[in-house]
Amino acid sequence: MLEQLWLFHCGWIRVPRPIIVAGAPMTFPRLPMLAALGYHSEHGPFLIDAPFGHEGPSNVGSMMGALLRGAGLKFEDEWSVVPRLEQLGFRPSEINHILMTHLHYDHTGGMKELGHAHFHIARSEWEFPLSLTPFTALREGYQLDDFRAMRNRVELFDDPAPLEEDPDGVDLFGDGSVRAVGLPGHSIGHVGYRLTFDDGRRVFLVGDAAFCVEHIIERRRLGRMPRSFAYNLAQAEETLRSLRLYHDEHPDEVIVPSHDFEWGERCLDGPTPLHRLEG
Ligand SMILES: [Zn+2]
Repeated sequence: MLEQLWLFHCGWIRVPRPIIVAGAPMTFPRLPMLAALGYHSEHGPFLIDAPFGHEGPSNVGSMMGALLRGAGLKFEDEWSVVPRLEQLGFRPSEINHILMTHLHYDHTGGMKELGHAHFHIARSEWEFPLSLTPFTALREGYQLDDFRAMRNRVELFDDPAPLEEDPDGVDLFGDGSVRAVGLPGHSIGHVGYRLTFDDGRRVFLVGDAAFCVEHIIERRRLGRMPRSFAYNLAQAEETLRSLRLYHDEHPDEVIVPSHDFEWGERCLDGPTPLHRLEG
């Protein structure tokens, strides 16, 4: 049974809003790197994505890390994954399960620091980057050094069918509380996680299938950045369309994209409980 859920950020960078949301007015909001920690009565604390470890954005190499910082990416050590767990009262060794939406480097930097855990990843999302050379992988958004040593710690699940075909996806803990739902396009095997509390409330962590809530709720188009990062843009747009239809049918579900401006602001001062949200 899912008991609690918190959202936290591991860093942020100010970006012109129109490069994320096409046609938006020119403002410079903070774009966060978000992750979530859940607590399951049987499986204990579990993590969804692991954006940055102690090295921060230098997981992509010290030069590119310096470039990202030069471009305004803010990172502090206490924002990295292990201190975040500790701020929530957990030891890293207590984390047995880490659920990955996808393996782009802004989601994987903390994986190495939790190498004892089981990583749950869609099969194609794991196999595709490992079929590339490190250089080509990086160009595709993957830092192989973050995860390739964990071959024996990954628990691959077959890619779920896309949301519109199979809204139930893969039942990861066997009790319906955590479901991996197919949201392909941003990356080859990208999934979202739909979490259900025992009182029926739901939170849908959609990863990078939408960069912010307004892509879904206000039907705003993807800006230049999410378009250029897409592995398959047509498929990413199809996924976004099905998320909008899904939201129309389930307006009470709380949607959390990994880089949402507003959610980032809400957890700027530290991890924010999602299980206490009203409505
Ligand atoms: Zn991302």
